[in-house]
Amino acid sequence: MTPNDSAPPSDFIREIIREDNQTGKFDGRVHTRFPPEPNGYLHIGHAKSICLNFGVAQEFGGLSNLRFDDTNPTKEEVEYVESIKEDIRWLGYDWEEREYYASDYFEQLYQFAVKLIQKELAYVDDLSAEQIREYRGTLTEAGKESPYRERSVEENLDLFERMRQGEFPDGARVLRAKIDMASGNMNLRDPVLYRILHESHHRTGDAWCIYPMYDFAHGQSDSIEGITHSICTLEFQDHRPLYDWFLDELEIYHPQQIEFARLNLSYTVLSKRRLLRLVQEGHVDGWDDPRMPTLSGHRRRGYTPESIRALCEAVGVAKNDSVVDIALLEHHLRQDLNQRAPRRMGVLRPLKVVIVNYPEGQVEEMEAINNPEDPAMGTRKVPFSRELYIEQEDFREVPPPKYYRLTPGREVRLRYAYFITCVDVVKDPQTGEVVEIHCTYDPETRGGDAPDGRKVKATLHWVSAAHAQLAEVRLYDRLFNVENPNEAPERGDFTDYLNPNSLEVLENSIVEPNLVGAAVGEIFQFERQGYFCLDRDATPEKPVFNRAVGLRDTWAKIEAAQKKV
Ligand code: ATP
Ligand code: MG
Repeated sequence: MTPNDSAPPSDFIREIIREDNQTGKFDGRVHTRFPPEPNGYLHIGHAKSICLNFGVAQEFGGLSNLRFDDTNPTKEEVEYVESIKEDIRWLGYDWEEREYYASDYFEQLYQFAVKLIQKELAYVDDLSAEQIREYRGTLTEAGKESPYRERSVEENLDLFERMRQGEFPDGARVLRAKIDMASGNMNLRDPVLYRILHESHHRTGDAWCIYPMYDFAHGQSDSIEGITHSICTLEFQDHRPLYDWFLDELEIYHPQQIEFARLNLSYTVLSKRRLLRLVQEGHVDGWDDPRMPTLSGHRRRGYTPESIRALCEAVGVAKNDSVVDIALLEHHLRQDLNQRAPRRMGVLRPLKVVIVNYPEGQVEEMEAINNPEDPAMGTRKVPFSRELYIEQEDFREVPPPKYYRLTPGREVRLRYAYFITCVDVVKDPQTGEVVEIHCTYDPETRGGDAPDGRKVKATLHWVSAAHAQLAEVRLYDRLFNVENPNEAPERGDFTDYLNPNSLEVLENSIVEPNLVGAAVGEIFQFERQGYFCLDRDATPEKPVFNRAVGLRDTWAKIEAAQKKV
């Protein structure tokens, strides 16, 4: 599914835009932007914002910019800029030549600040950060005015200029807006506009030692770019009066800010600060660890851009916060891959099977369907021989009730091959563990059907031992044990909820030879086991597969229900 091939979505934001187009508010223009701060990798919450901003622009024949809100040199890095661009492209969106940076506007923003000083609407404050906090008051208590609030325009201009020239150390002074220390909206209690930071910036180098606060940069950057609809998340609702105040007092073009609810996912944290901690503290193996809710993590795990866009569309755009079940994301991935992923056979935990009446040295090429959902994907040949591997869990010496798979004396089908019947079990003399099973096959059932019409209740996947490719398979479970890891426990924090079993590595899996030479990022359905993506850790000798998501496992449900009885 591409963003365009279904009926255009409808929601309150699109309604506003339609109305603005009718009234001619922006002369029919629609110009949005996605404004990431380059201080981490994008996560699936950002995908919602990307799909919305770029999607709306596409639908209304407008434009969407990519703008990096890079006002904080201490936390930002080029690595993040590059990853953000890669992730947006991967999602399927294009900002064309409109790649902008708030830092490109530093001089303009400085001039805006000068203008506010000249209008007696900004002042240089010598209070320390701690004092400013104290003076701010609380939600129930008005703030206190700074003793430096009534400095003259001349003195403020002089001090602000000297701040820029680097005369003062970090934290010595700030520039603040002069609004209202008694405002019910804390954002209007003389917010800080500029701070001194003797830090190199990833783009402007050492040109600046004062940096605008995000709040002083964001709305003006939208204005400079001629954005019509500044779409942002709900937490900025209380900042809107401040942004409006800046635009009004600066007398510049005024975009319309519209807030919508963030995407939250169950069993997941979506905050760059927390994701950074997971990386830095080694709870995961980097930003693109397949367990991470980052876009790069999802990509590496085997998620498709189509599935993520489909999730964002299904969730829609609303005004109230809600938590989306992660199972819905998995559902959209299955929907997408079911249509597109080639089928292969892979045995995760191998158990040897010897077909005792099959000629030694004989090899047959069995015809296997690549995707029953898509006949155009054709068929392939899979070699069959006397010794094979099947899944350990597909054999039980003593079958529990309702177990229909292989067990002594029972006949089952090997997919695309033959019916086989278990005739013997070989055990490790020390441990008693089943190490090999012996079966007979019925040569009349080639291809998987019996000419006499007899039925079997199970069809197993398999790989010929002589043709097997050894593979590493990584199985993932939820990264957190609780539905809402954002709600910290009484003591400790969200990392207490990490699932210690979120990664299981199988070193000795076996896959069919058709998987040799697969490309990194290619996704397959391993029959009966789920969808698997070739990881970049793969070597020519040993492919490595990440399981993106399992197929619905009805057996697990039956087993769980039986345990309860
Ligand atoms: P985080 O809280 O993860 O650090 P952020 O909002 O600080 O995210 P930004 O880089 O500022 O990260 O985000 C860029 C854009 O993405 C913003 O417009 C922001 O509102 C939006 N965004 C961030 N998280 C979500 C989310 N969970 N759902 C929808 N939009 C989001
Ligand atoms: Mg932010």
